[in-house]
Amino acid sequence: MRVVEHYYEENNLIAPAKISPATLSKLAKLGIRHRSELLLHLPLRYEDETHLAPIATSRPGQTVQVQGVIKHSEVVFRPRRSLVCRLEDNSGELYLRFLNFYPSQQKQLAVGKQIRAVGEVRMGHYGPEMVHPKCRAVDDDTQLQQSLTPVYPTTAGLSQIILRKLIANALETLPLGDTLPDALLQSLKLADFAASIQLLHNPSPDISANSLEERTHSAWRRIKFDELLAQQLSMRVHHRERSKRTAPALAPHHQLSTRLIKSLPFALTKAQQRTFAEISHDLAKPHPMQRLLLGDVGSGKTIVAALAALQAIENGYQAALMAPTEILAEQHYLKLRDWLEPLGITPVWLSGSLKKKEKQLAAERIASGGTLLAIGTHALFQEQISFHKLGLAIVDEQHKFGVQQRLALRNKGKVTNSSAESLLLPPGRGKVGMGVESMDIHTSTPSLTLPLHGGGNSKEPHQLMMSATPIPRTLAMSYYADLDVSVIDELPPGRTPVITKLVSDERRDEVIARVRAACMEGQQAYWVCPLIDESEALQLQTAIETYERVRADFPELKVGLVHGKLDNAEKARVMSAFKANELQLLVATTVIEVGVDVPNASLMVIDHAERMGLAQLHQLRGRVGRGAAQSLCILLYQQPLSELARARLKIIFESNDGFAIAQHDLQLRGPGELLGARQSGVAMLRFADISADEDLLNQARLAADELLRDFPEAARAHLQRWMANKHDYLHV
Ligand code: ADP
Ligand code: MG
Repeated sequence: MRVVEHYYEENNLIAPAKISPATLSKLAKLGIRHRSELLLHLPLRYEDETHLAPIATSRPGQTVQVQGVIKHSEVVFRPRRSLVCRLEDNSGELYLRFLNFYPSQQKQLAVGKQIRAVGEVRMGHYGPEMVHPKCRAVDDDTQLQQSLTPVYPTTAGLSQIILRKLIANALETLPLGDTLPDALLQSLKLADFAASIQLLHNPSPDISANSLEERTHSAWRRIKFDELLAQQLSMRVHHRERSKRTAPALAPHHQLSTRLIKSLPFALTKAQQRTFAEISHDLAKPHPMQRLLLGDVGSGKTIVAALAALQAIENGYQAALMAPTEILAEQHYLKLRDWLEPLGITPVWLSGSLKKKEKQLAAERIASGGTLLAIGTHALFQEQISFHKLGLAIVDEQHKFGVQQRLALRNKGKVTNSSAESLLLPPGRGKVGMGVESMDIHTSTPSLTLPLHGGGNSKEPHQLMMSATPIPRTLAMSYYADLDVSVIDELPPGRTPVITKLVSDERRDEVIARVRAACMEGQQAYWVCPLIDESEALQLQTAIETYERVRADFPELKVGLVHGKLDNAEKARVMSAFKANELQLLVATTVIEVGVDVPNASLMVIDHAERMGLAQLHQLRGRVGRGAAQSLCILLYQQPLSELARARLKIIFESNDGFAIAQHDLQLRGPGELLGARQSGVAMLRFADISADEDLLNQARLAADELLRDFPEAARAHLQRWMANKHDYLHV
């Protein structure tokens, strides 16, 4: 490290071969693997070292650079052991304080030395002081900086000095030519790329610090636009590329589906009919569908999924339905078995907890084509499982799955023999054939197609993803631009909206009494135990305690307990007892968050609701209000509430509409939360903020179309600059 630093100091140059492996791995941690990525590693903030502030006029709270002579230096022991130095200029004096210091620092700050210090002034023990200022020894003709000093995002052990040198060198030696045509820049009034990037790395001191910090400066707008444009381009390219891949064309015969619809005790809603028609239309095409079926909790997505599966089955292809938890997967299995067995279709159940023998049996039926419908958890895409002829992969609650898991399922369709080779991609390996260099936007688009095993079957299954987490418009335009989306925008009739009550923890006894009374009247209730510091073990413990307490207090109630650590037979037993109304109260951890469907349950208590996120609260509350009875959801909260918790509870109290809730969530938490697992695969936006930069997002969408149509070279250059080194399994 020393050697490297020294080398830079001497030469003010970067020779990549000379960077130590340690530095390289730290750069990699920051996502920087190529020198061009240094250009886009932009400062978090700036320090102003372009002028000196007189000590006397520096106010607490200001970050300033001062220069003076050390008049006194000593190690004190109160209030804490620290090195304290008195710095004087001709206007006043200031203390510099260091809690951790090296002997070398003590030497540097010896009495009589002339020092330049940068830091925030505050009122300390001895008067105005700076704690841990950045200090260096100077003489009378040490120059001041010409531009604001950038402070870059970094990682432990990688100094700002090294980063600055690496970046400065990249700025000097790499091409900064504009990727976008002049006409586009002019019509959108966008600043030049080279000028923008230079400015952001080295802004001159007269630029408004505010416009840099708030990222409203025209240079920031240009960079944000570029980033959004790159995202749009890559999504478009992917969308096009998909239409070049092949999937089995599953024609709609509608024989089985018509029979299923007839056998249901309810009529499909208009929205269910419409979304099924959209899916059905896609399935008939010889290109892989990638459609997201969005519908609020309780909107009836499962039946739509079942109809889609039947379309595959009618064509002699297999369908797979995957759910993120055992409870949910099993519930799907039971429901679909009830629906489909009368049609002569017996689904196979596959979960990690099956006995080895049973698993083998299930795997054989899947591999031989002995079953056309497989339902289960992520066990479905383990490497031992191969499908005979997978035509449709359905993923419920898709945001709960990782990208790699979904990718693995998709690739299942490509294998025709039972080659046991794993198709799971290790991170960063999704790049097969995806190098942007080898991409021609006009003719051959980049491909995620993997080398095939087992004969030249390159067909892949259609994919239907389902989610109850609605996506706000900007998020859909941005992160989901590569998917087609169907929305179930109405609930089945006869539902009465859930009434939500916020109740302080102090009234816990009243709440418990109320639950008891409701159960005695024949209602069924959930008691959801709190999340505890993200710790599953603790959550489990509270669940068990709550269960024991309720049982002791109300021996007359039939109470069940369900949590993630229960063995599956037990879990299934409890769930079916609750479903059959043999249990009146179900104490549960958040494992019941997704999908669980017991229409007779009409009361839910969410304990320590203040600890849960908006999407989670909405999902949980969606477990009630599924039957005709008036349902009630009690959010028990403990005071004092944090600002965020208060805001969340207010929203969930005021709204039953998943879409409105998601919109608020986006504002409160940013997109990461809503994207769920997708974010691990999507290159998240680093600079643009889709709530604040909606105008830029709109412009980028239009520009992406224009570029792909009229300036493919520019589109390619732009992707090269922005996406060259991102691992590209973002489009799963
Ligand atoms: P979700 O969209 O949350 O997955 P489900 O598919 O679990 O919703 O459906 C919720 C409940 O509504 C189930 O009990 C289901 O049988 C029922 N259901 C679905 N569609 C209709 C409909 N059109 N009319 C009445 N009930 C329906
Ligand atoms: Mg569901």
